[in-house]
Amino acid sequence: MKAEILSIGTELLMGELTDTNGSWIATQLPPLGIQLQWVSIIGDDLDKLTEAFTRGLDRSDVIFTTGGLGPTQDDLTREAVAAALGETPTVQQEVVDNLERYFAGRGIAMPAHNIKQAHLIPSAQFVRNRNGTAPGWWAERDGKIIVCMPGPPGEMQPIWHEEIAPRLRELVDEEVTITRNIKTLGMSEAAIDEEISEFFGHENPYLGIYSKADGIHLRVIARAGDEETAREMIVPVEAAITERLGPYIWGYDSETPEEAAGQALSERGLTLATMESASGGFLANSITDVPGSTGYFKGGVVATTKELLAASGVPSATLRQYSLASAATALAMANAVRETMGADYGIAITGVIGPEPVDDQPVGQVYVAIAGMKQVRQLEFRTPPRRIVIKRRVANTALTELRKLIVEEHEG
Ligand code: ATP
Repeated sequence: MKAEILSIGTELLMGELTDTNGSWIATQLPPLGIQLQWVSIIGDDLDKLTEAFTRGLDRSDVIFTTGGLGPTQDDLTREAVAAALGETPTVQQEVVDNLERYFAGRGIAMPAHNIKQAHLIPSAQFVRNRNGTAPGWWAERDGKIIVCMPGPPGEMQPIWHEEIAPRLRELVDEEVTITRNIKTLGMSEAAIDEEISEFFGHENPYLGIYSKADGIHLRVIARAGDEETAREMIVPVEAAITERLGPYIWGYDSETPEEAAGQALSERGLTLATMESASGGFLANSITDVPGSTGYFKGGVVATTKELLAASGVPSATLRQYSLASAATALAMANAVRETMGADYGIAITGVIGPEPVDDQPVGQVYVAIAGMKQVRQLEFRTPPRRIVIKRRVANTALTELRKLIVEEHEG
């Protein structure tokens, strides 16, 4: 089944809004076995929208749209679908009733222009939207499907999971696509490419390699008549990757470094404390993004001066002798926070966040220390000199190293 996505809204064309809906929907299609072929951004213009639908009906089996379902004059998705299919919308009283109830529930009368959202054409059905006033549309004619969803991701994504994906699954069940993501850190893209070169360049199973903020990801995609066969096709590729890259693998599928580290801690009943200078709390923030992290995360200190580091238990002698951005300071920070917070593991991050170099060290130079139960782990490396990149890279690296150290200390 060939698909295209139309992301609708002049805000998107003006660069004021980034099309995250298009990329989100794109991630949902491979597991359904739907091949995405085009993604277009179109402004709130009836002629251009109608043209896009007409072209889409010609070249795709299914068109997904987001945006333009609101009540205002520039919300034109419904009108354009009607024009492309040559049908006339009529008002559906039951939707008017629903809208009136929705507004009454908020203690206000329904604005007259919301009637627009109750229009439907003969080839379309409404798609329920629990989180907003704009119902979606599912239109089907001559073997082609148009699925229109509202723009706000908080409305569109539940509609997708509850209403759209189940219907699509029924339509495409003659073929399934299974994806396996294997996440590594510490090996270069080129080195990985060389290690597992014989798996690249095949169509099914397909192996892709992607460089991300948390390392190099490998994605295996297999397509088959049923789920079991597709999974079996992935097994030998994953086994070879695990055998050859084992120590560098830190996670799978949608797992994040903070989840992988959190799991390593929680399943062993271990605790963690952090002390950060260059990363400004980014590490603690990532750790606490994980539900249940209070069970293993004792706390974090953010200190950007030597005085504050000293007040947080870092020995003054170390601070006098070494730069704030140094391996020695990082190690002293990790030991101090592990001890003062009574944690099993202490992570420290220091370095040069910019905009100016520190003690002749360039922006992006970072130091990580992890004080463990039996050993310490120290890393120093240079990231691209952009603040958010520095914070993300150093925090992700610290967390994947922590996971590795925990596994080594408890299984080695
Ligand atoms: P509403 O009933 O809320 O007006 P709508 O279907 O008319 O919904 P738009 O008015 O086009 O949607 O967009 C509403 C909001 O949804 C935008 O301001 C933006 O926050 C979000 N949005 C729209 N399209 C996208 C997109 N492609 N990617 C990410 N967010 C989007």
